[in-house]
Amino acid sequence: MKNSYRTIAAAILFGGIFFSSCTSSQTADLIVYNGNVYTVNDNFDKAEAFAVKDGKIIAVGTTADIRQKYKATEMLDAEGKTIYPGLIDAHTHFFRYGLGLQSADLDGTDSFKEVVQQVVEHRQKYPDTEWLTGRGWDQNDWAVKEFPSKDTLDLLFPDTPVILTRVDGHAALVNQEALDLAGISPETKMVGGAVEVKNGHMTGILIDNAVDLVTTKIPAPSEAVQRTALKTAEQNCFAVGLTTVDDAGLDKATVDLIDAMQQKGELQMRVYAMMNPTQENKDYYFKNGPYKTDRLHVCSFKIYADGALGSRGANLLEPYADRAGHYGFLLSSEQEFRDVARQLNEHGFQMNTHAIGDSANRLLLDIYGEVLGGKNDKRWRIEHAQIVDPADMNKFGKYSIVPSVQPTHATSDMYWAGDRLGSERLTHAYPYREMLQQTGYLALGTDFPVESINPFYTFHAAVARQDAENYPAGGFQMENALTREQTLRGMTIWAAKSNFEEKEKGSIEEGKFADFILTDRDLTTIAPEQMRATQVLRTYLNGKLVYKK
Ligand SMILES: [Zn+2]
Repeated sequence: MKNSYRTIAAAILFGGIFFSSCTSSQTADLIVYNGNVYTVNDNFDKAEAFAVKDGKIIAVGTTADIRQKYKATEMLDAEGKTIYPGLIDAHTHFFRYGLGLQSADLDGTDSFKEVVQQVVEHRQKYPDTEWLTGRGWDQNDWAVKEFPSKDTLDLLFPDTPVILTRVDGHAALVNQEALDLAGISPETKMVGGAVEVKNGHMTGILIDNAVDLVTTKIPAPSEAVQRTALKTAEQNCFAVGLTTVDDAGLDKATVDLIDAMQQKGELQMRVYAMMNPTQENKDYYFKNGPYKTDRLHVCSFKIYADGALGSRGANLLEPYADRAGHYGFLLSSEQEFRDVARQLNEHGFQMNTHAIGDSANRLLLDIYGEVLGGKNDKRWRIEHAQIVDPADMNKFGKYSIVPSVQPTHATSDMYWAGDRLGSERLTHAYPYREMLQQTGYLALGTDFPVESINPFYTFHAAVARQDAENYPAGGFQMENALTREQTLRGMTIWAAKSNFEEKEKGSIEEGKFADFILTDRDLTTIAPEQMRATQVLRTYLNGKLVYKK
């Protein structure tokens, strides 16, 4: 203690003597200058430059200031480009998205020949998967509107099982290897399904329950496949400016893999993990407590209260407008939700509950209130919070509950949400601004791969409440639109706060991780119809360039 004090005193003394009037430069690893920098600090201040050392921002200011005070080995002239803090997506299925990328996307193919071509190309990109899977073909889009047959697949992939699912999921084309593994023969019969046979030979087309005979044989992805999934998901996320993703619903084995890859430098992405409430996850984390490194944070569980609005699974207070007497349903009993809330509170974990219908939201808000007791700093979240009865709105404020919402859900659902809810109840759907008024902050996300991973779609949907075609004119229920500043905060500092990480990320300020992006346009000044086309030019994570256009 005494020694270090003397060292500091000596440094100040000698510094004063030797460097007072001339080049008193301090060293940094990287200086970014000539930028249009949105710091997203409390005052929403702008800056031109900042210095980075050891992965952290050490100073923010004008170009002249920073260049005078610091010398760095790496200089980045931003040439007036706009710079934001690295974006945070507060609700994703990052790992599941990565796994999905390893299935060939056959949507929009216009012939079976094109399907085969895509499958072959896909295999070259992802040679590790035990099964070759694809999805999305529709013979009605083809010149020959007939089901294809497996012959070509048998020639190309004699030893690799292949399953290509039709766009509606009710039919699939499989090869002989897949049929063999599933034990399917021309004689196979079942209820609610069929194996197509022509001239005594199977064509490879399976209908409904026959498809399940094959899909149940697909093994869980190997570790190599999981690693590839995480890395490809990461690359795509960096390309759209994401530097932190909240993964909603992981198991310990996946979290351990992410941790190991991060420790070895194989995965850079910062991950906020919400755990599935399995017995195994609860046993381990309740015993060991939350876990945190610079890139991984485990301190929450993801609970499901109800289903989705589109499939009428969301739990409503009054029946669906388009199905008499139907209220949707809860996925567990009231008592089970109460028990898990008490357990999580007792062990110091955040509870993040998927609640879409107004009845599910009311129940969970009340249980949260019961367990938390009043204003608090536990930051329990409601994921989606899509339909909130006006009588329940104040509970967000009263119990300090964080709305974690996905603006692109509003613009994807707006075409039919009124059918489900009727016009009066629709006005209480996607009530972002009202919820924000209660809490002072909210977290924004996409729920990818349910929606696109692109955070600029989120920005446009939150601000303009319009789809990619700028429909509807004037925006959908604009009384609940967010301002551009609120939206940017929701994708950065407020999302960080919903993860208990606002002291380390979410803004360009001294002491924070050097996570930031350069974009080709300024979202706070451009016309709304230009927002979705925003391009990320560079993404930096921990002061390191991880993506360059
Ligand atoms: Zn989700």
